[in-house]
Amino acid sequence: MPEELNPFKIAQSQLDEAAKMLGLDETTHEILRWPRREFRFTIPVRMDNGKVKVFHGYRVQYNDARGPNKGGIRWHPDETIDTVRALAAWMTWKTAVVDIPLGGSKGGVTCNPKEMSEGEKERLARGWMRQIYFRLGEYKDVPAPDVYTTPQIMSWMMDEYEVIAGRHHPAIITGKPLELGGSLGRGDATARGGIFTVREACKLLNIDPSKATYAIQGFGNAGQFAATLHKELLNGGKLVAASDSRGGVYNPDGIDPHALVKHKLETGQVAGFPGTKPISNEDLLELDVDILYPAALENVITEKNAEKIKAKISCELANGPTTPAADKILYKNGVHVIPDFLANAGGVTVSYFEQVQGTYQYWWTIEKVHNELDAKMTKAYHAVYDMHKEKNIDMRSAAYLVAVQRVVDAMKLRGWV
Ligand code: GLU
Repeated sequence: MPEELNPFKIAQSQLDEAAKMLGLDETTHEILRWPRREFRFTIPVRMDNGKVKVFHGYRVQYNDARGPNKGGIRWHPDETIDTVRALAAWMTWKTAVVDIPLGGSKGGVTCNPKEMSEGEKERLARGWMRQIYFRLGEYKDVPAPDVYTTPQIMSWMMDEYEVIAGRHHPAIITGKPLELGGSLGRGDATARGGIFTVREACKLLNIDPSKATYAIQGFGNAGQFAATLHKELLNGGKLVAASDSRGGVYNPDGIDPHALVKHKLETGQVAGFPGTKPISNEDLLELDVDILYPAALENVITEKNAEKIKAKISCELANGPTTPAADKILYKNGVHVIPDFLANAGGVTVSYFEQVQGTYQYWWTIEKVHNELDAKMTKAYHAVYDMHKEKNIDMRSAAYLVAVQRVVDAMKLRGWV
């Protein structure tokens, strides 16, 4: 049988495993298998050539037992209702595992922003907001950026919401530019949070991160900041490879991460960076490095290549990079996986800080943001690690046990189950 690669089916099967281990009753399990609410809509956008193009948009509100729904908006050609459902489920476990008082949701549009002008993107952003504003709000559901959406897109969306509402709503959306009420430290928060978990993992696994080699699959926002922050926060380490959708670069003697980020910003790709050899995304994943950062999209580590993963730690900055079959293989082979909804929870954690600051209209210093983020990530990592040791299970299962139990407790207290 071919491996299941539908992200929502994968998210459900991961939950099923956790439900079994936690001994959840059927009703509780069933409610957690599905989004509480979901919306699909069409967004007509006048394109620059004068014609109207119809885009398909989504918002899935998975579970809000612990607080208002929270989650990003992804603009991607492969976006479907099932990818959004899966990502919304993972947001629910993400906010729970870092113990912030929010639920989980996700939004999306099937589109290719790389082929759209700024004007077309603005009209799409405003059109998305017009279709769903009635179910959004500080105490209902707060969107944020994800793959291919930016602070500028958040600004247009916030403006559209405020025009409709007829008043300011600084906490309606996060990941905004600083000028419009964004938080210091939000830009690199996903990567920074991930590096904090790697720091903790290295202590427990007796790895010296300042001497570790690392490779990054996916050189978008999270991947670029991981490249530079690994060195900055872990006192060194050697970046040996990085890739994006157009290919990768490799140099066993090390790559200067700042120069590579500059090259990517100038040329739109990592390929062609001086002093490196080309490497494919597939080969990069199989490199003999200490730390691997999958930082792109879902399903890159599957039953096909899992046996070949040699990294000691896989820090999943992407959502859903590893399939359940691959998880079993990595666990058997002793790869320490820091699972996605723990490893990349730094983004939503600082989004939560942004929401808090926006609500009382007073902004924190960068030091405060970093310290609070460190405290949240460190505590969450150790809670998951302790569960992994106590129950003798892989790190993803352990993260599920911690997160799902918290959501179940909230549902019980509310009298839902
Ligand atoms: N899109 C990011 C994620 O997957 C951030 C979500 C947020 O900030 O609400 O965690």
